[in-house]
Amino acid sequence: MEIINRRQRMSSVSRKVRRELDKTIGLVPTMGALHEGHLSLVREARRMCDVVIVSVFVNPKQFAPHEDFSRYPRDLTKDTMALSDYNVDYIFAPPAEEIYPKGFSTYVEVERLSEQLEGAARPGHFRGVATVLTVLFNIVRADFAYFGQKDAQQTLVVKRLVRDLAFDTEIVILPTVREDSGLALSSRNAYLEPEDKRAAAVIYRALSHAEAAYSEGERNGKKIADMIRADIEAEPRAEIEYVSVNDADTLERLDRLDDRSVLIAVAARFGKTRLIDNIILNKTSKTGQLVMP
Ligand code: AMP
Repeated sequence: MEIINRRQRMSSVSRKVRRELDKTIGLVPTMGALHEGHLSLVREARRMCDVVIVSVFVNPKQFAPHEDFSRYPRDLTKDTMALSDYNVDYIFAPPAEEIYPKGFSTYVEVERLSEQLEGAARPGHFRGVATVLTVLFNIVRADFAYFGQKDAQQTLVVKRLVRDLAFDTEIVILPTVREDSGLALSSRNAYLEPEDKRAAAVIYRALSHAEAAYSEGERNGKKIADMIRADIEAEPRAEIEYVSVNDADTLERLDRLDDRSVLIAVAARFGKTRLIDNIILNKTSKTGQLVMP
């Protein structure tokens, strides 16, 4: 496993892998502080591809000024150790100026899909995400890139980005990895006080309750959202930011659920920590396979 810091070295290594060695490349973009969720993506990349590259880059452009960029957990030594068990070929861990050279002034905006939910709560977030992924995709030119369903809106944004700008990289989406309590793994869980961590399991309990109601025939989007709100509000440590019921492909808000796939997404705060989670009802495309729009 080699750790690469320079964009030029990363480009030339992946060019060689593709051209001279004729091997397939899998890219797993991360911000580090790796946990089992990230590692599930690495495992699938390892299974599918000849060469696996994990990028570790805390992208300043996807954080708003008041957000947690400066205190986001960073520990490349620990991440390297976690990846050494997975037979990863390269870790790409560039400093910011390698991704954004002096005078950087080109941004990528995925319109509409970026504007609601996380985009509304975190203005500029998806512009930062789409921009960094464009740079990474152009440096690495991977055959496959791996993303988690945990960040549902991000999966839609990245699929749209790849389609619209004709990147030659296929996007693979994998299911959310959870703790036994149901809490979705997240690097930000490290911020949680033990009591808040216990309390945060309410999110998935509420989502599962909604899923059960849907299975029993409930098709009123507002009723489902209200049910989730009531469950979460019963936990005094939780502060809901949004509960939304949307078309899982277009993010159109759904008042009446029909035969479309439905994304139920939640953002809530526990103490100072903001968590997101989601489930998809009536999946038409199986998570874990190539899911293209
Ligand atoms: P991050 O380091 O938070 O930017 O996440 C890097 C990738 O890991 C993204 O594609 C996330 O969606 C994915 N990811 C984060 N948490 C989980 C999880 N609990 N289960 C599956 N994938 C995850």
